[in-house]
Amino acid sequence: MPRRTTKGSPVAAGTGKATSEKGAAREILLEGLGVSAGIAIGEAHVVEIGVVNVPDYEIAAESVDAELERFRDALAKSERQLRKLKKKSAELHGAAAEELEFLLDAHLQMLSGSRVVRGVEKRILETQQNAEAAVQAEINAVAHDFEHLNDPYLSARAKDVREVGDRLLRNLTKTPFEAFKHLPEGAVVIAEELTPADTALLDPKRIHGFATELGGAESHTAIMARSLALPAVLGLAGLTSAIRTGDIVIIDGAGGRVFINPTAARLEEFHRRQLELEKTERILSRLKKLPAITRDGQRIGMLVNLELPRELDMALAAGAEGIGLLRSEFLFMNRVDLPSEDEQAEAYRTLVEGMEGKPVTIRTLDVGGDKLAPSLRDRLGETANPALGLRAIRLGLQERPLLETQLAAILRASAFGPVRILLPMISSLSEVKQVREILLQVAKRLKRRGVKMADPLPPMGVMIEVPGAALAADALAQVSDFFAVGSNDLTQYTLAIDRGEEQVAHLYNPLHPAVLRLIQFATEAALRARIPISVCGEIAGDPKFAPLLLGLGIQDLSMAPVNLPRVKQRIRNIDYLAATRCARLIMDQWDTGRIAMLLDDFNALAV
Ligand code: PEP
Ligand code: MG
Repeated sequence: MPRRTTKGSPVAAGTGKATSEKGAAREILLEGLGVSAGIAIGEAHVVEIGVVNVPDYEIAAESVDAELERFRDALAKSERQLRKLKKKSAELHGAAAEELEFLLDAHLQMLSGSRVVRGVEKRILETQQNAEAAVQAEINAVAHDFEHLNDPYLSARAKDVREVGDRLLRNLTKTPFEAFKHLPEGAVVIAEELTPADTALLDPKRIHGFATELGGAESHTAIMARSLALPAVLGLAGLTSAIRTGDIVIIDGAGGRVFINPTAARLEEFHRRQLELEKTERILSRLKKLPAITRDGQRIGMLVNLELPRELDMALAAGAEGIGLLRSEFLFMNRVDLPSEDEQAEAYRTLVEGMEGKPVTIRTLDVGGDKLAPSLRDRLGETANPALGLRAIRLGLQERPLLETQLAAILRASAFGPVRILLPMISSLSEVKQVREILLQVAKRLKRRGVKMADPLPPMGVMIEVPGAALAADALAQVSDFFAVGSNDLTQYTLAIDRGEEQVAHLYNPLHPAVLRLIQFATEAALRARIPISVCGEIAGDPKFAPLLLGLGIQDLSMAPVNLPRVKQRIRNIDYLAATRCARLIMDQWDTGRIAMLLDDFNALAV
C-alpha cells in the first residue's frame, strides 16, 4: 500500500512497477486542496512562467522615474511570490525541502541589489529602455556570462538567472499563459500558480485538469475550475519540482491528491473510478427535467453561476431555471482594452436569448482583489489590501462611464428576455441609491435614442457579501428588489481570511457561527420585506449545505452548472420541516465542529 503523506509532502509511493513513459520512475503522491471534483488522467505539461512577446520601446525622459517604479513593483511582487513558495516548501521533508529552499534563496538573492537589478536600473536610466526590454537584455547578458564560465556548477546557474528573468517579465507584463493554446489534447496543466484569467483560457475540451503549487479553495481560480468542470488540486507544495512535462499524472479533484508516474494498479483503479463517476453523472442527468422539490413539497429555484458565455450549454444541459449570477468581469479579462457598450450588449443578449425566457441575473463589474482586468490596472493601482480597496461597485461609482456603459448594455439586453441587475460589494444604502439614480439616467438616455428595453426597468438587487451589508440587511431591503448572498466573500470578510490564500485555507469555514448568523439575519430581513433571496456563493453548490440553507429560509440556490444535479438530488431527498428543525438546532450552536457534525448527521439520512 502506498504511504499517505502529510499534507503537501511528496513521497515515493508504492512498490509496483511504474507505468510512466520512463518505466522505472517511482510513483509520487502529493496532497493539497481538492477544489474541483472529478478525475483527470493524462500527460503533465508544466507551464513555465514565461512571456512570449517582450515589448521593446524607448520611454520619454520624464517617464524614467515611473518606469523605475514599475520595475521595482515587479521586483517586490516577484520577491513576495518567492517567499510564499519558500514558506510552502517548508511543508516538505528532508532533502527535497533543503534543495528547494536553496534554489529559492538563490532566486531571492538575485532580486536584491544584484548585478541583474543594478543592470536593469542602469538601462532604464541611461538608455531609456522600457522595463521589460531592459530586464530581457540584462538577463541575456548575465546568463551568457554564466554559460561561458568553465565551472559546470556556475554555468548551470544561467538557468536560474533566466527563470528569475521570466518571473520578472511575467510580473511586469501580467501576461496570461499564451502557451495553453499549443497544449496537446488531453494535457494536464501543472503550474506554480494560475490566475482566474489564466484559468479562463483553459479549454475543457482539450485540457483534462490542472494542479498548482499556490492557491486557496475559494479563490476565483478554484471557482473557474468548477465552472469549467475541470478536475483541479491547488496548494501542492513542491509540485513543479517533483514533476516534468511528459510525466503521466492523475488528478483526484475530490480527494485533493495528485499521483505522478502512477503504478499500473493505481491507473487501473482510477480508470475504474472514472467509469463509476460517468455512470453516476448519467443517473443524475435523469433529474434534469424534474423540479428541486423536497419530500414534503417545498420547491427551490435552481439557478446557475456563469463566468463565460461558453458555459451556457452546460447550464442548459444541467436543467438550470435561470442564471442567478453572471460574473461579468470575465468579459474584461485577457484583453488590454475595455469592452464597448455594443460588445457587452451583444454578449448579454446572447445569454438572455440562450436562456429562452428564464431570468438572467447580470452582476455589474466586480474587478479588484484577485480578479484583475489589464485595462483597469492603472485605475485600480497597487494597494496593500486590494480586497478592501477600490473593488466592484466602488470602482463603478468612481469611474462613472464604466458603470454607465455596462448598465446601458444590460438595459439593451433586457429587451430580449427577463434580466435582473445585481450589484457587487454593496456596503451601504447610499451606494444602491446612487446606482438606481444612474440607472434611471441611463434608461432615459437610451429612450431618447429610441432603444428598446424592459418596461418596467429590470429589478435591481444587491450582493450580501460584506458583513456590514448583512447587518444592515433590513435597511438595504427597503431599496433593493432582491438579495443574493455571496458566502465566499462574506466568509472572507467576516473571519478576516483571504479566500485565495492557501496558508490560511484551513481556517476558512462558512460554517462558522458568525457567518451563519449573518446569513440568517439577511434571510429574515428579506423574508420580512418580501423580497427574494438566493445564495450564489460556493456553499450553494455543495449538497451538504442544502438542508441548512433551506432551513434558514433560502428560496433559490445558484451554483456552477456541474453541481446542480447533485444539489437537486439532495433537495429531493430531504424533508423541509426537518431541515428547518436542523437549521434551528445548528443556529443554537457555538462550535464549528459540532455544527459540521449535526449537518453531516442530517445529510447521512438524506442520501
Ligand atoms: C461571493 O463572494 O460569494 C460571490 C458569489 O462572488 P465572487 O465569488 O465572484 O466574489
Ligand atoms: Mg464576491
